[in-house]
Amino acid sequence: MFAEVIVDIAHSDVDKIFDYACGEGIVAGMRVAVPFGKGTAAGFVIRVKSATDVPPEKLKNIYRALDQFPALNPECLSLAQKIAARYRVPLALSLRLFLPAEMRTGKVSEVYKTYAKLVGDPAEVPPKAKAQRALAEFLSENGEQETSELRKRFGAAVNALIKRGLVVPEKKRRMRDPYGGKRAEQEEHILTPAQSEAVRRIQTTDKTVTLLHGVTGSGKTEIYLSLIASELEKGKSAIFLVPEISLTPQMFTQLRARFGGEAAILHSGLSAGERYDEWRRLREGDAHIAVGARSAVFAPLENIGIIVIDEEHDGSYSSESSPRYNTFDIALLRARHNGCKVVLGSATPSVETYRRAEAGEFELISLPDRINARPMPEVRIVDMRREVRRGNPTPFSLLLRERLKECLAEGNQAILFLNRRGHSQTVMCRDCGNVLKCEHCDVALTYHSDENCLKCHYCGSRYKMPEACPACGGKHIAYMGTGTQKVVRELSSLFPSARVLRMDMDTTSGKEGHYRILNRFAAREADILVGTQMVAKGHDFPGVTLVGILDADMSLHFPDYRSGERTFQLITQVAGRSGRAENKGEVVLQTYDPGNYILRFAANYDYEGFYEHEIGMRAAMMFPPFSKIVRVMVTGEDEKETLACLKEAYDALSVLYENNRDKFLFFNRMHSPVKKIQNRVRYQILMRLLEGAPLKEVYDAVSPLGRKNVLVYVEENPSNLS
Ligand code: ADP
Ligand code: ZN
Repeated sequence: MFAEVIVDIAHSDVDKIFDYACGEGIVAGMRVAVPFGKGTAAGFVIRVKSATDVPPEKLKNIYRALDQFPALNPECLSLAQKIAARYRVPLALSLRLFLPAEMRTGKVSEVYKTYAKLVGDPAEVPPKAKAQRALAEFLSENGEQETSELRKRFGAAVNALIKRGLVVPEKKRRMRDPYGGKRAEQEEHILTPAQSEAVRRIQTTDKTVTLLHGVTGSGKTEIYLSLIASELEKGKSAIFLVPEISLTPQMFTQLRARFGGEAAILHSGLSAGERYDEWRRLREGDAHIAVGARSAVFAPLENIGIIVIDEEHDGSYSSESSPRYNTFDIALLRARHNGCKVVLGSATPSVETYRRAEAGEFELISLPDRINARPMPEVRIVDMRREVRRGNPTPFSLLLRERLKECLAEGNQAILFLNRRGHSQTVMCRDCGNVLKCEHCDVALTYHSDENCLKCHYCGSRYKMPEACPACGGKHIAYMGTGTQKVVRELSSLFPSARVLRMDMDTTSGKEGHYRILNRFAAREADILVGTQMVAKGHDFPGVTLVGILDADMSLHFPDYRSGERTFQLITQVAGRSGRAENKGEVVLQTYDPGNYILRFAANYDYEGFYEHEIGMRAAMMFPPFSKIVRVMVTGEDEKETLACLKEAYDALSVLYENNRDKFLFFNRMHSPVKKIQNRVRYQILMRLLEGAPLKEVYDAVSPLGRKNVLVYVEENPSNLS
């Protein structure tokens, strides 16, 4: 027999099929060791066949299989090929997506334990051998046991019984169970009529994809769980994707309580060994539900009955390393292959998704009410410009201070949210709230201290830093942004007895940094949680009755066409943390731009209103989904070499541009806004393409240009243009 092998080296030079001779045990999907060049390489068997064109004297033998089973099932093999073709990456790279990293690096070992099993009758042991008799009786009552444990208790009797042939030792693989200890009782809710109707519609629609648009607390999770349970009953498997940040201990407990060992949870907080074992349980059919962040879409499951993508709008569903896939696109391919449904859930669907649902491509289900008709928390908008005029320099308005005081006095909890991402260098007038924007793109400008100028990240335009506000003439032009640390400091002087927890990039490092903080807050070890984006995601804290959004408009002015959408999403999500239990919730939303339509829609929980407005803007500015922003990045350590590569890419793309001018709204090369990261200079070619533009050709033109020291890659609608 002969095997077609892809060597596990992610380089375009060796990105082709090599034939090897092989024995009976080799099947498609297996990882193998093969002679390659002067050494040995790992590889993947793509196909096994009975004939080859390679002449016998040139044909080499596969050395051996690296695992006892094919790591990739046939669906995953064919999916890897599609991904390689779509994103123009070496097949080895897309095949790797399907394996736990620790499997390739060979850093995990399987753990074997020896178990002792009674094969006779305890009565066969002579009564005089008391210890042996006791052991035999113990085994007869309790079934097989780990020999090492038995030796501690029964000593030499263990070997004696083995010698007698009454007990046989047996080696078995032991699975590490990362959640062994955490098992709680969880009542299974009886679905409300709205939930049952949603389940029924998802199951019966003839559309592959359903968008479940339900307000926070409308019971979407319960809907996912019953859909999954119903597939499991039919003997099928399921994939349940959530943003990494939502993979909380509460969520594990809920899944374990509901599905026991059927759920395998893949997340970055696990040790290498644990992650590998969870993957094996899926591959071997011991577990049928893969739960995890975006990479769990590659779970080694067969016969998939449903794929759920919770918080579908979340930015973490786009991969930021090669191949730069979109999780939904992969889910759709798997759904087509398995003939199953995809459910996208969100309280704030992305504009792109909602548009497709509205157009009838996806089934659209709306859940406008919370479970038990709990009211949505009331949102009060506070004008911070007035606070500045009143002489209040703190980050807290008078209203927020008052409400905090009441909340603490009643023994409830509060969340204070700082709406910022990274280090914002947006410039704003503190007198009138005006933010400096690009004249061509209507996107906030970013201040670059190295050149003391303002730049647009979408078209590269440069502007001088003005002395006074162009809108009101005011002189209080400032960079926006208060840090969490400052907020915590001010809190402790205002409310000295309040216990405050801080959650941001600095406090959540380490494997389980953010779980630790969330757990402490959930256990009521603190009264106030202060944090950035991380506190916004779907946590359920029944004690929270007040949410303060300190600078609601901050993310509105991010240099990003999606900043309005992101702001709406964040405010809705964080407001949804308030009043989830019996006590009524409230939200105080502080802003320098109280008339802003995005904030108004968010305060009224008016997604449809927001959507209508936003889609109109996108159409007017020809931003996605009416166009596609494509960026070709060229980065390298050597400036000259990188520029040479950029020129090649630009020349190749210019040909495409000249031949398809009507499909290009924008085409130019420039420095990236951040010129250097980790000693690599960064250049980019930015394009805005219309439907029908030659996207595949863009990949074809630039993918071969990368070289040893220069990286060239394509990004589609990147979530960050820095
Ligand atoms: P969402 O995911 O839409 O934000 P959740 O699924 O977290 O909403 O549900 C909100 C709350 O309502 C949770 O505390 C959940 O336990 C509860 N819940 C969900 N479904 C039901 C039901 N059918 N009956 C009673 N309580 C429910
Ligand atoms: Zn611009």
